[in-house]
Amino acid sequence: MKNCKDLLEQKFIKRYDKMKLEVEAGLIFVDIELTTKEGERMIPITDGLYTMPQSPGEKPQLIGSRCLSCGEIYFPRKEKGLCVHCQQKNMEEVKLSRHGKIASFTVVMQPPAGGFYRGPVPYAYGYVDLPEGVRVETLFAGDLDALETDMDVELVVEKLYEDDEGNECATYKFKPVQK
Ligand SMILES: [Zn+2]
Repeated sequence: MKNCKDLLEQKFIKRYDKMKLEVEAGLIFVDIELTTKEGERMIPITDGLYTMPQSPGEKPQLIGSRCLSCGEIYFPRKEKGLCVHCQQKNMEEVKLSRHGKIASFTVVMQPPAGGFYRGPVPYAYGYVDLPEGVRVETLFAGDLDALETDMDVELVVEKLYEDDEGNECATYKFKPVQK
C-alpha cells in the first residue's frame, strides 16, 4: 500500500526535474490563503517541502536552503548540505517568499503514465520565480485558463488526493493573485 510520502520521494520531484520549459522572470508581492478545512486529516505529500500552519492566520512557506559561503538558494532544500555552486558544505535552512511570478507553465489534459500523479486532471505545472532568485517547480491552483507567464502568484497548500489510508494528501501550489 502506497501513501503520499512514498510517492513524492520517488517520482514527483525527479520527474519534474526533467522538464525544460521556456522562461521569463519577475517579482511580486501578495498574500496567501490556506485551503485546509478543520477536521480533515491533511498531511504533506512529503516532509520538508513547506511549513504547515499551526493556527488560523499563520501562512505556509516553502523551505529552502541557503549556502552560507556563496549565498546560493535552493528549493527543495539540500538534504546533504552540499552547494553545487561553490562545492562547500555550509547550508542553512530558510523559509522562502510566498510570492512570485510565473516563469513558464503547461496545462496537462490527461493523467500522466506511471501512476506518480494522483491529483485531478486537467492540471497545470511549471516554474515560479521568487524574489530571492530561486526558481520553484510547482503545480498551479485556481482557474487554469487564466494562467499567463509573468503573472503574479501566491503560495497555497491544497489537497492533492486521498491516499489508500484515507489521508488527505496536501501539497503546495501557486495560484494567481486576486486583483
Ligand atoms: Zn555555495
